[in-house]
Amino acid sequence: MSLTWNNTPYHSLDYELKTTFGRKIYKLSLDGGMTCPNRDGTLGTRGCIFCSEGGSGDFAAPASMDIRDQIGAAKERVMKKMPFQSEGPGFIAYFQSFTNTYAPVPYLRSLFTQAILHPDIAGLSIGTRPDCLDGDVLALLRELNAIKPVWVELGLQTIHEESARFIRRGYGLPVFEAALAGLKEAGITVIVHVILGLPGESRDMMRETAAYLASRPIDGIKLQLLHILKGTDLADIYQTHPFPVFTMDSYIDLVIDCVELLPPSITIHRLTGDGPKSLLIAPLWSANKRQVLNGFAKRFKERQTWQSRLWNGHTL
Ligand code: SF4
Repeated sequence: MSLTWNNTPYHSLDYELKTTFGRKIYKLSLDGGMTCPNRDGTLGTRGCIFCSEGGSGDFAAPASMDIRDQIGAAKERVMKKMPFQSEGPGFIAYFQSFTNTYAPVPYLRSLFTQAILHPDIAGLSIGTRPDCLDGDVLALLRELNAIKPVWVELGLQTIHEESARFIRRGYGLPVFEAALAGLKEAGITVIVHVILGLPGESRDMMRETAAYLASRPIDGIKLQLLHILKGTDLADIYQTHPFPVFTMDSYIDLVIDCVELLPPSITIHRLTGDGPKSLLIAPLWSANKRQVLNGFAKRFKERQTWQSRLWNGHTL
């Protein structure tokens, strides 16, 4: 690891946004009013076992609002929390809830065009599934990407097929590989979501997922701690057959292992997760964000010290 990203020990999203846009950028969580093939009966009705009622978009504005109103409301929420800045920040319109390319192309075109042409919006980030990216959708994304940057966020979670079946992901690894190839061919920035802590996965299996992604042409990664949320099938499993969850220290060490496996060109969008506290059953330590971030800072520093001593020929 090196200290080349504004004194952050990894290629952070904050660094990437400042470098790309030259100013502070915030993501606004929006709801495009779509569902998901894993919920509407096409592939299943209960969704992935960890997915909450909000379709992994629990912080998004309500879908009943017009997209311009959603942008306005989300922006207001962000601005309230921000210290005064002489230059206004920019925003990325983040279509987060459910599967945001799971709709007819004319609908997607209208929705995404309204967002991308909004004067406060610097780019789009679209969360979706790899099996919902056909040629027409890719052509639309390519068009939009010529206006402002477009990112696509794919929820892969794991490369291990037995885990994928257990979580009811509903597609195999070749589908992800085809989608990634199509998106890269269209010039789109691709961010992949990985969940660490899936039941039945060893630390080695999780490191294998990171190593696999390190060798693929992805641009960013979100490393997310498995959150057990109320109202999900995962919560029922946890309550009837409790399985081990990470302690904070063991999670931090595993994440740093994964970061070390990734090439420095890959932006690390997230090191943990952001589940809604009101729904969180376990691991409860993850609700204390400040403590988790301090834990990361301390452990990154210790491991760098350890590494630099090795590099300098010291023994421990
Ligand atoms: S694909 Fe995404 S939105 Fe659909 S059920 Fe799984 S986690 Fe939820």
